[in-house]
Amino acid sequence: MPAVFVDRDGTLNHERRYLRRVADLRLVAGAADAVRALAAAGFAVVVVTNQSGVARGLVRMSTLAAIHDAIVRRLARLGARLTAIYVCPHHPTAGTPPLRRRCRCRKPRPGLVERAVRELDLDLGRSYCVGDSAADLGLAAATRTRAVLVRTGHGRATEAELTLGAPVAHVAANFRAAADWIIGDAQNVSAERRAASPRRRAPIERARTSPARRRRRQPWR
Ligand SMILES: [Mg+2]
Ligand SMILES: [Zn+2]
Repeated sequence: MPAVFVDRDGTLNHERRYLRRVADLRLVAGAADAVRALAAAGFAVVVVTNQSGVARGLVRMSTLAAIHDAIVRRLARLGARLTAIYVCPHHPTAGTPPLRRRCRCRKPRPGLVERAVRELDLDLGRSYCVGDSAADLGLAAATRTRAVLVRTGHGRATEAELTLGAPVAHVAANFRAAADWIIGDAQNVSAERRAASPRRRAPIERARTSPARRRRRQPWR
């Protein structure tokens, strides 16, 4: 199953510097529609989020869990089911060990996505990353997924700093528009693949390939 790896703050919910209370949580308009549409199109929708507020001592793990419960419940009430939420609570220089460390899971590093791929058996080659910051675009580059930048959160500032030839597949107004684009793009890509090799027995070959073999082919591992 392909996945859309979605950033949390500034993409799924409104950016607040270190969201610390459920009461301050506000979903971005259309976020539930986006999750629902992606799930209906056959994507796993996986939140991947840096939460260095934990390492900095600003947010307790229990508070973080309560905020994530609230996100899941609010989306579910609107008929939208998240597949999973993966969190990096670390920071390389702030706080104290063990949360202060140079980890592999802080975006743009690929650790969270690697874990999700392993635990959920995702098809990385057909997956996307959506987010509002350079770390999200870096994550896409590190995992060789297609990057979609949203203009919510820090997105406009990130867009202004994009250099020519930056590996961004698309810039969307918000997560909802990003989801629409991804669904169309995935259809185009699979149509192109079929057109490029009409005689290829791709579905059969895929079915015969074990998850372990598929994993070995992923160049970033
Ligand atoms: Mg963000
Ligand atoms: Zn980490």
